[in-house]
Amino acid sequence: MSERLILLTNDDGLWAPGLALLEQVASRFGRVITVAPDRNRSAISSALSLHDILRLHELGPDRYACDGTPVDCVLVGCKHMLGRSPDWVLSGVNNGFNLGEDVFYSGTVAAAFEGSLQGARAAAFSLHPKGALDLIEPWIEKFLSRWEAMPLPPNRIWSLNFPKGEPKGFQLCAQDTRQYLDLVEKRTDPRGTPYYWIGGDAGPVYARTPGSDGQAALDGWVSVTPLHLDLTSPDVLARREEFSKVFGE
Ligand code: MN
Repeated sequence: MSERLILLTNDDGLWAPGLALLEQVASRFGRVITVAPDRNRSAISSALSLHDILRLHELGPDRYACDGTPVDCVLVGCKHMLGRSPDWVLSGVNNGFNLGEDVFYSGTVAAAFEGSLQGARAAAFSLHPKGALDLIEPWIEKFLSRWEAMPLPPNRIWSLNFPKGEPKGFQLCAQDTRQYLDLVEKRTDPRGTPYYWIGGDAGPVYARTPGSDGQAALDGWVSVTPLHLDLTSPDVLARREEFSKVFGE
């Protein structure tokens, strides 16, 4: 078998310490090529640069800064930098959780999804905002040494969230729900004109539903959430009779 080809990216930018840790661990498993945004592109989800050109800057052997989004990085990486499809696409380690509905906004998670769309085994890694990278390093290694034994169907990824302290272990989880209080703050600029700021200091409140990633990660476990790109709601899809009554002729 040829050497594993591993594409790395993130949404915090190429200089983020979480990416350096992931590069360090991933390099034990194959040849790592990093294509990451040249600045923080957090909360940009799956945005694609359709109307702007993309530039890559080589910063070292197999390390590139791209002026696009995390998904741009995965596409450019897969299509031009690697020479063949990567075996793994790893994204992170994000500075901050991606739990519950966070996954819809997260560029970290979106990059992993793009990796799965490109046919790679893909995972997103996120850490408690006050978490310690050195504590989670052996857990990333443990996960990567075992995850090939549990292949996922197409269009699925693993999303891992690491707790603040020493992890108690891995826990397979469902997606939690969360709410942001005071999400949009109104302030006034020095000229007296109001402006609005999304994402205040309050932070999210997780429902901590039993069996969910919110509960597991806040209780000190590594939450391992299998995510699916198919967003169809199976419970509503099953209500065909009711649908015909309401929308049928
Ligand atoms: Mn981020």
